[in-house]
Amino acid sequence: KEFRNNVKPNWCPGCGDFSIQAAIQRAAANVGLEPENLAVISGIGCSGRISGYINCYGFHGIHGRSLPIAQGVKMANRELTVIAAGGDGDGFAIGMGHTVHAIRRNMNITYIVMDNQIYGLTKGQTSPRSATGFVTKSTPQGSIESSITPVELALSVGATFVAQSFSSDLKGLTELIERGIKHEGFSLINVFSPCVTYNKVNTYDWFKENIVPVETIEGYDPHDRIKAMSTSMKYNGLITGLIYQNTEQKPYEALVKGFKEEGLAKQDIRLSQEDFDKLVAEFA
Ligand code: SF4
Repeated sequence: KEFRNNVKPNWCPGCGDFSIQAAIQRAAANVGLEPENLAVISGIGCSGRISGYINCYGFHGIHGRSLPIAQGVKMANRELTVIAAGGDGDGFAIGMGHTVHAIRRNMNITYIVMDNQIYGLTKGQTSPRSATGFVTKSTPQGSIESSITPVELALSVGATFVAQSFSSDLKGLTELIERGIKHEGFSLINVFSPCVTYNKVNTYDWFKENIVPVETIEGYDPHDRIKAMSTSMKYNGLITGLIYQNTEQKPYEALVKGFKEEGLAKQDIRLSQEDFDKLVAEFA
């Protein structure tokens, strides 16, 4: 209840994003956060509205830039739990450079991609997650490009936590977000979130028929990166659950020498007159 506010989402009825909003709110409450302990940073797209729909600190950023802002927030106040959220276009097109480097940097942030495999806000164009052959207004003869597979991308650039879920599975998604929040490092959670208005191919039924929960795969070990990669490739990137976690790798914050526990926002960073005079003398 704590994380609900009185803003009514203006997503289309049936949009998968509703469940992601609910899962974040439940997960935050389940891990014992208060609204003042959480910051949700979003990009642009239908998904970008999410930062205004949760009762906590929120920042609706610019297209593809949720992760630089989220990392800045975390640097400024390490005590905050920081969740970045955005669509597949936001994270894997204009924001792709930030996504790759944020994953390998491994700051203690949870990144939730609301993956509907299309651009919804601009009324239905092909995204980097659209399958080859996908017909939209921008690809009337079918997309001739191959699509990005988030799990494999993250594993290939050194991710320490990779999960994938489906917005219909509210319980499973909530649990994965809780685990992502608790993970010491960067957690990527890609969520299949159907766009009921513009994507008539990757529907709820389509996902139900095609996704493969890793719990159903005999001998699956989420600590085996090679196995995670080969399993994702085997099932066309449609595996769900906790796909990979590395608990040995320390987060960025723990590795920066002199990086104080106390966030910058709480430190007195004013220069003394003596230090100021020294600096002026140095640059004179
Ligand atoms: Fe959701 Fe698609 Fe509607 Fe956007 S256009 S709110 S993604 S259903």
